Amino acid sequence: MSIRVGVFGAEGRMGRTVCEAVHGDPELELVAAVDPHHAGLDLRPVTGVDADLRILPSAEALEGVPLDVVVDFTSAEAARANLRWCAAAGVHAVVGTTGLTDDDLAVLESSFTRSNCVVAPNFAIGAVLMMRLAELAAPWFSSVEIVEAHHEAKRDAPSGTALLTARRLAAASDEWDDDPTTNAVVEGARGGKGPGGIPIHALRLRGLVAHHQVLLGTTGQSLTIRHDSYDRSSFMPGVLLAVKAIADRPGLTVGLDAMLDL
Ligand code: NAP
Repeated sequence: MSIRVGVFGAEGRMGRTVCEAVHGDPELELVAAVDPHHAGLDLRPVTGVDADLRILPSAEALEGVPLDVVVDFTSAEAARANLRWCAAAGVHAVVGTTGLTDDDLAVLESSFTRSNCVVAPNFAIGAVLMMRLAELAAPWFSSVEIVEAHHEAKRDAPSGTALLTARRLAAASDEWDDDPTTNAVVEGARGGKGPGGIPIHALRLRGLVAHHQVLLGTTGQSLTIRHDSYDRSSFMPGVLLAVKAIADRPGLTVGLDAMLDL
């Protein structure tokens, strides 16, 4: 029997790609699409998905729709409300939306008791490996900075991937050189300070999709670990993997690594 999937943010950049990926997977069935400002529209011209579905206005409109898993690629504010509904309804949730805070994760941990939730700031396998490699490299270097670059419409900064990378670098080493800057001529020139005080620089440029670099330095050498998503299809294998595996992951899972046995 196929897994019945609903998509929040179905008309968004990621949501459209998710609808297509779900519809194209023989193990999954796209049964609902939610996007408040496009409610009532036929999903077909929006996504190219040949499924007879009208876009619903809200999570509440999913009441009565037979659903196993929802996928959320919206905004942090929308995701908070959507996930409240999923936890109460006992529907599994795969969340790609970024901008969720540690407090949000704590709320998800306590509220997903009847169903499961996977939150991954990056579903691209290369980005997951970038974070793992950065973590391995951390103890061997004395300075580190993260540069992320995204398309011009990204609302949150820095990216969830940059934040999670910083958190993992900080957990892997706390022996980083102090910032030598005593005179920042332009405020913010040294980036924002992420977990562990690790500098994160966020670029926004039309034409980009999602790009991350971890730059590590020590005496006489540096290491740059770089990942580029050139197309939103890069995230789909990870999303589909999470949709299929979530039923076996009780409670809250953060990051795709846990599902990849890295
Ligand atoms: P987007 O194009 O703005 O799409 C978001 C969509 O969600 C919009 O159509 C928006 O409608 C809709 N929406 C707003 N409130 C909603 C609600 N309550 N219920 C359902 N839909 C709602 O953004 P995007 O580029 O697709 O990115 C979405 C999120 O995914 C961002 O947080 C982004 O950082 C993240 N992302 C994650 C990954 C990953 O691998 N985890 C990869 C790429 C992007 P309106 O525009 O009308 O408000």
